[in-house]
Amino acid sequence: MAKDYYSVLGVSKNATDEEIKSAYRKLAKKHHPDLNKDNEESQKKFQEINEANEVLSNKTKRANFDKYGSADGPQFGGSRAGGGFSGFNSGGFSSQGFSGFDDIFNIFSGFGSTTNSSAKSNRGEDIAIRIDLTLEEAALGINKKIDINRMEECKDCKGTGAKGGTEFYTCSSCGGSGKKEYVQQTIFGRIANVGDCKSCNGTGKQIKEKCATCSGNGFIKATRTISVNIPSGIDEGQIMTVKGEGNAGHKKGAKGDLKLVISIKAHTLLKREGTNLYISVPIPFTLSILGGPLIVPGIKEKIEFNIPPLTQTGSTFKIKNKGIKYLNKDSRGDLFVTIEVEMPKTLDKSVKKLLEEIDENLDANSYSDYKAYLNKLNKK
Ligand SMILES: [Zn+2]
Ligand SMILES: [Zn+2]
Repeated sequence: MAKDYYSVLGVSKNATDEEIKSAYRKLAKKHHPDLNKDNEESQKKFQEINEANEVLSNKTKRANFDKYGSADGPQFGGSRAGGGFSGFNSGGFSSQGFSGFDDIFNIFSGFGSTTNSSAKSNRGEDIAIRIDLTLEEAALGINKKIDINRMEECKDCKGTGAKGGTEFYTCSSCGGSGKKEYVQQTIFGRIANVGDCKSCNGTGKQIKEKCATCSGNGFIKATRTISVNIPSGIDEGQIMTVKGEGNAGHKKGAKGDLKLVISIKAHTLLKREGTNLYISVPIPFTLSILGGPLIVPGIKEKIEFNIPPLTQTGSTFKIKNKGIKYLNKDSRGDLFVTIEVEMPKTLDKSVKKLLEEIDENLDANSYSDYKAYLNKLNKK
């Protein structure tokens, strides 16, 4: 079943483009994955909001949705599997570079332009997809194959919507110029504006026979697999833009971009902050006293280092250059290991006896903090 995109955005069926845009921005900021790490519900909501906006901010898709309950019009039928923005088939696209990073909210600026007179507004919509990476993938970089659904220009009619790209007659409303004078009633009186002819959408032509492939939309839905090299060092919430891999433009406008919103899954042991990694390791109390080797996880491989004798609980060791690579620099952050001394949780008789012997041989002078405490206690 198709979702009710209007209720997803909390707007009425008669909402204006501005109302939709404003509702979308509000909700998208609220549920943005970067602000809701660990909140699966918000992340799901964010996908729904984007899907709803993708449809309702696009005239053709909105009209299709109103009419058929699906953004794709009747020819595709049914609802999309999985929701969200991504598709699930493979196409055959070649490797793409990425063109840079955006501020987290820049992603919204590509959506929802309402006029269609300038070249900019004919630009196709951007497609936003959340990419889930493991900590290792983000740290080391990875080539990802990303499945997307997007609108592409219909090849059979070259995007015109007319059969064979030729079945037109001249628009009777504007006489083929594509422009028309519209009179507007304002507080300054009647003002005449020349704008795109509404009957032919500014093309000067009207379709005689619709293209069967695209039902006259000029677009077809395509599922493509885009190959993207995700650079090492990318972090949660960053957005990668892949130029020109979004939806097709209107009236030969430029293609939109593909925006990849990076989300990084939690690691079982390591915590990341920027380029540094942090881990807290419980060690046996004997190791903390005697010192010895300790193995910790790294990004690429396990790392062994030596705990010095008499290591106190809470001590932190810095292992240089074992953190995450800087995105734009050829250096790495550090790995910080914090020691938590663990006391034995069981004790047999013979060990207990040994400990009693040890206790007899250690006096308060071996414990500087304890000694200071006793001094304060007895001074008054
Ligand atoms: Zn067509
Ligand atoms: Zn016209």
